[in-house]
Amino acid sequence: MTAQLIDGNALSKQLRAQVAADTAALKAKGLTPGLAVVLVGDNQASQVYVRNKVKACEDAGLHSVLEKYEATMTEADLLARVEALNNDDSIHGILVQLPLPAHIDAQKVIEAISPAKDVDGFHIASAGALMTGMPGFWPCTPYGCMKMLESIGYDLKGKHAVVIGRSNIVGKPMALMLLQKDATVTVAHSRTKDLKALTLQADVIVAAVGKRNVLTADMVKPGAVVLDVGMNRNDEGKLCGDVDFDGVKEVAGYITPVPGGVGPMTITMLLVNTLESAQRALSEKH
Ligand code: NAP
Repeated sequence: MTAQLIDGNALSKQLRAQVAADTAALKAKGLTPGLAVVLVGDNQASQVYVRNKVKACEDAGLHSVLEKYEATMTEADLLARVEALNNDDSIHGILVQLPLPAHIDAQKVIEAISPAKDVDGFHIASAGALMTGMPGFWPCTPYGCMKMLESIGYDLKGKHAVVIGRSNIVGKPMALMLLQKDATVTVAHSRTKDLKALTLQADVIVAAVGKRNVLTADMVKPGAVVLDVGMNRNDEGKLCGDVDFDGVKEVAGYITPVPGGVGPMTITMLLVNTLESAQRALSEKH
């Protein structure tokens, strides 16, 4: 059996075209959605991520501001910048790129972002909203995974989903989103005993670990849907996921590739959240 590919690039293109159309409609009403991206320090990977985010905004017609600061920036100065952005009406989404330098308390900075502009969905109020099913911003990576499932018309009701990884930004919110769609959810982590026994029962597997070959073909039930969030490098230095793609694609029903899978969806959902924030701001005005 050869799995069908869930193409994150193609789905992103479709969703970003919709964001661009909705952005144009908002602009016609006099409001341009705006995203502020704040980068502190010179982490190489972060520089690439923020560039991609800003470019994606521009391509879809959103206004974007990139604020870059030296690694020596104080926590107090960063908190003051966040506060200024909270009060800036041209900004609807604020993203502080992580990781931050060690002398800055990242959680404190995230909690300083207004929940109304928390388009990354990392604020404790956003986490609480997701947990209780209230309106709020969903973290972009698991939100992108949900859109991928939606794109194949997958009905999660009564299905068994196994999420491998329990981080606050991927694993835990992923589990809550799946639960909200009536899946029965198991969350595995580094202390889980016999991961294979769990994944073999799964209709849907989300791998969000950050280690190559966490999921191999012998761990997958025929026909299962496999979403690979992991971003790793193989021996040749090429980007790869957590899933042994070549093996698992012979067993799974659907599979996401790396690159070109969940990665582009993460940025797409950031645009979706920023647009939604602007739409909420407009409706509050009227
Ligand atoms: P993280 O915070 O390091 O969490 C990794 C999780 O994996 C932890 O819960 C850990 O368990 C668990 N784990 C570690 N080894 C395991 C094992 N052998 N078996 C089962 N579980 C194991 O990472 P993250 O931020 O969630 O990111 C996970 C991966 O996704 C990384 O590769 C990251 O680069 C990638 N990522 C990709 C995107 C994207 O846009 N594509 C976005 C975000 C993250 P414990 O909790 O017990 O330590």
